[in-house]
Amino acid sequence: MGKVIGIDFGTTNSCVAVVEAGKPVVIPNAEGERTTPSVLAFTKDGERLVGSAAKRQLATNTARTISSIKRHMGTNYQVRVDGKDLNPQTISAMILQKLRKDAEAYLGESVTDAVITVPAYFDDSQRKATQDAGRIAGLNVLRIINEPTAAAVAYGLENEAAQKVLVYDLGGGTFDVSIIEIEDGTFTVLATGGDTQLGGDDFDERIVDYLVQEFLKSDRIDLRKDPAAMGRLKEEAEKAKKELSAAISTQINLPFIAVDREGPHHMDISLTRAQFEMMTGDLLERTSQPVQVALTDAGISPSQLNRVLLVGGSTRMPAVSRKVKEILGMEPSHGLNPDECVAMGAAIQGGLLQGGGKLEGATGQAAQGLVLMDVTPLTLSIETLGGVATPLIQRNSMIPTRKSQIFTTARALQTSVEINVLQGERHFARDNKSLGKFKLGGLRGGFVDKPQIEVTFDIDVNGVVKVSAKDMATGRQQEITITGSTNLSEADVQRAMADAAAYEAEDAQRKQRMELHNQAEMLSYAVEQGLTKHKKELDKEEVNRVKADLSNLRRCIRKDKPDRMSEAEMQNLAAAKTALEQSAAHLMNLYMADKQTSGAEQ
Ligand code: AMP
Repeated sequence: MGKVIGIDFGTTNSCVAVVEAGKPVVIPNAEGERTTPSVLAFTKDGERLVGSAAKRQLATNTARTISSIKRHMGTNYQVRVDGKDLNPQTISAMILQKLRKDAEAYLGESVTDAVITVPAYFDDSQRKATQDAGRIAGLNVLRIINEPTAAAVAYGLENEAAQKVLVYDLGGGTFDVSIIEIEDGTFTVLATGGDTQLGGDDFDERIVDYLVQEFLKSDRIDLRKDPAAMGRLKEEAEKAKKELSAAISTQINLPFIAVDREGPHHMDISLTRAQFEMMTGDLLERTSQPVQVALTDAGISPSQLNRVLLVGGSTRMPAVSRKVKEILGMEPSHGLNPDECVAMGAAIQGGLLQGGGKLEGATGQAAQGLVLMDVTPLTLSIETLGGVATPLIQRNSMIPTRKSQIFTTARALQTSVEINVLQGERHFARDNKSLGKFKLGGLRGGFVDKPQIEVTFDIDVNGVVKVSAKDMATGRQQEITITGSTNLSEADVQRAMADAAAYEAEDAQRKQRMELHNQAEMLSYAVEQGLTKHKKELDKEEVNRVKADLSNLRRCIRKDKPDRMSEAEMQNLAAAKTALEQSAAHLMNLYMADKQTSGAEQ
C-alpha cells in the first residue's frame, strides 16, 4: 500500500497531510501554500484553475468561479459552465484532483488512498457525495471521518491523559461542535452539533454590507449593482477581517471602485475591531445554542470538560476565545494550528490504516492502539402508524452499529409493507428527511396473527446506512443501501471518473507542450546570445548553419496558445529543437577546440 494522505476538504480552504517518519506533516501545494482555497474557476479559454489562482479570479470572473461548493454537497445544486451542468461532486472532484496531484509531486509517488474529513453534522447523502467526489478524483477513499474527531486525534498525539474535550470548529462555511472523550488511546465522540450555514464567509459579508452602506452614503453609488466591484469588496473584506484579528483597526482602500459621470470614485474607509465585533456579535452568539445542546446530549456540564480546542481559521478572531469563555467558563487551548490540525488528524488515521505508519514518541503508543469511534449525527427512524417517526438508532449513537426491532403490520390482511427510512429529530415522518423507501411484499397477513417484521439498521464505519426488513414467518428479506435522491448513480460516478481521467491526460499533454515550448524558447535565446557574444571568433559557415536552424526553430514556435499545438506541430518543434541543439553543440565544440589550440600555441 502506498502512502495514505489525509484531506481536510474545507468549505473555504483545504489542507492535505501525510505521516512521514512517524509524524503528521502538512503537504504544501504546487504554489508552496500550506492550505489551498477550495475554489474552482474556468478561464475564458476553458482552462481549469484551482486554488489561489481561481480565488484571484473571483473578482474579475465572478460568473465562472465557483467557491464554497461544500455547502451544496448532497443536494441537486448545479452550476452551468460552457453549456455543461456541473454537480457538487464533479466540482469537488476537480479540487480534490489538484490536491492529489500536488501531493504526488511532493511525495514523488502516485497517491490513491486517502482519508477525507467532513463536518460532523453531514448527513448520509452529504457523506456519500464526498466519497463519490473522491472517487471521481481518482482516490480510493478509505475512510470518511468527522473533522472534530480528526482534530482530536491530532491533539491526542501529545495528550494522552483521560479527558473530555469540546472541539469548537468555526471554519469558512460551517460551525461544528463536538464533545469527545479521550481515554487510553480511544477517542469517543459523545455528542456533535453545529450550524451548517454559519462561518467566516458570514463575517466577511457583514463587512461588505457595511462598506456598501458607507459608500452609498458618501458617494451615492450602489456597488451591489456591479458584480466586479462586489468581488473586489469581498476580497478586501476578508483581508480586513483577518487583519483585525491582529490589529485593532484597519483601512479598506479600493481605488477606482466605481466610475460615473463625475469620474472615478475611490473607497477609503476605516474599520476598528470594536466596530467589527459589534456588527458580528450576533453571528458569534449563534454558536452558543449548539454548544449547549451538545453538552446536554453528552450529559455533561461545562465544568466536566477538561479542555476546549479551537479549530478552523475563523477561531483566530479574538472575539471567539472570549465567546467560548463566556459560554463555557474556561479559556480555550491554542495548542493546535486551527487550519491544519484536521488534515493532520486525517493523516494519522490514514497512517494507521496503512499499517506501516508507526507514530513517534511516548504518545505514539497511544496512537498506534487508537480506536476511533464516531457517532451518527442524526436520529434514524422508520415511519410507523399515523405518520410517526419511530427511532431505531438515536442521534449520537456510536458507529459502526447495528440495531434490530420487530414491527408488525398496521392493518389485518395486509400483504406488504413499505419501509420509509427517515433521518432527523422530529416526531412526525413528514418533518424529517426521507433517506429512502422500499417494499417488503408476500406477507401472510391474518386477522389475529399479524406478520412479524424484523427491521435492521446497519451503519458502517463511514456512516453509510443499510436497512433491511425480514418477514420472520417466511424469511423473505428486502434491503436497501441508502443512496439519497441527490446522490450519483454508479454509472454517473464512472462517467465522471472517466471525464476526470481524460482531463488529467489532457492536462499532462498541455504541460508537455508547454515544457517543450519553454525549452525551445530558452534554447533559441541562449543560442542567439552565444552567436552575438562570440561573433568574431566563430566559423562563418558553421554560424550560418546554426542561424538557419535557429530561424527554423523560431518558425516552429507557436506564438499563440503554445499549449494547444497539434501533434504534428509538436513533432516539428521537437525536431527543430534537436537540430539546433546539434548544430549549436558542434559549433561550440569547434570553438572550444580552437581556443585550446590557440591557448597551447601561446
Ligand atoms: P478554514 O475553513 O478552517 O480554513 O477557515 C477559513 C476561514 O477562516 C475563512 O473565512 C477565513 O477568512 C478565516 N480566517 C483565516 N484566517 C483568519 C484570521 N487570521 N482571522 C479571522 N479569520 C480568519
